[in-house]
Amino acid sequence: MARAYPGAVIPAPVTTEATAPPAADGPAVSAAGIDVALRLLAGRSLVALTGAGLSTDSGIPDYRGPGSTARTPMTYGEFRSGEPARRRYWARSHVGWARMRRAQPNDGHHAIAALERAGVLRGLITQNVDGLHRAAGSSAVVDLHGRIDEVVCLDCHDVSHRDRLQRRLGLLNPGFVDAAGAAVTAPDGDVQLDDTAGFRVAACEACGGVLKPHVVFFGENVPKHRVERSYALVDALTADDALLVAGSSLTVMSGLRFVKRAHRNGVPVVIVNRGTTRGDPLATLRVEAGCSETLSALATTPCARERSL
Ligand SMILES: [Zn+2]
Repeated sequence: MARAYPGAVIPAPVTTEATAPPAADGPAVSAAGIDVALRLLAGRSLVALTGAGLSTDSGIPDYRGPGSTARTPMTYGEFRSGEPARRRYWARSHVGWARMRRAQPNDGHHAIAALERAGVLRGLITQNVDGLHRAAGSSAVVDLHGRIDEVVCLDCHDVSHRDRLQRRLGLLNPGFVDAAGAAVTAPDGDVQLDDTAGFRVAACEACGGVLKPHVVFFGENVPKHRVERSYALVDALTADDALLVAGSSLTVMSGLRFVKRAHRNGVPVVIVNRGTTRGDPLATLRVEAGCSETLSALATTPCARERSL
């Protein structure tokens, strides 16, 4: 059952736009319509946690979302295993980056930025590495899983811009991107590409060390300071506020732990996602709808606008 909290307004019966199959451990609430979420969130300060589902409308596929292609991303251990794995990664990333850097923020990103400007959104934790929140104008962003537009050296820890590496990789591998053709881009900028044997990898310009995208790989821990900043944002919320999850299936603990913390603190949790999520049993409300339409509606409600006056 949904948890009771001061000011809860959940009309019965709840309007259901679409009913998704129940989560493995049972959903706490039925999937509800956008109108129900708007009433519940009215007047509340928010912290948002966003995932890949927010960027699908920008043309970046969510490989965990409904209808997505099953895909196994490279793990941290595999990346560290040696030159062949890194050659495979950077060859695919080289093609993926050429496409990914052209992605533009969508209505969902713009709505999140508008909510921040209006003083409704206190903080933003994103699992996305695509940088589209900043491109839309959001400033209070915790990039939980890092940024795909940055490169870090595993040896001297120098951080540089991905565009610079892209130019170097282009000089080392002329014509490679064009020859790769229409490969499918994934949320981390990787693509499905089989022939990477002849690709030449670039080393760190400062020390000659191993370069890695400045993102958290599967099997790698999220840096402690980002986790602590995120917990601090969630811990500052009260029962009169809410944690808004948008476009994440909360499959990995790196995001789910903040939902658990909010739930433990008695903070309402509203999840906007197409498909069930691991956080459903902890949610006050789950909205089965797209992020762009839901967040746009939220950003243009009278309550959000009044605060900006
Ligand atoms: Zn270095």
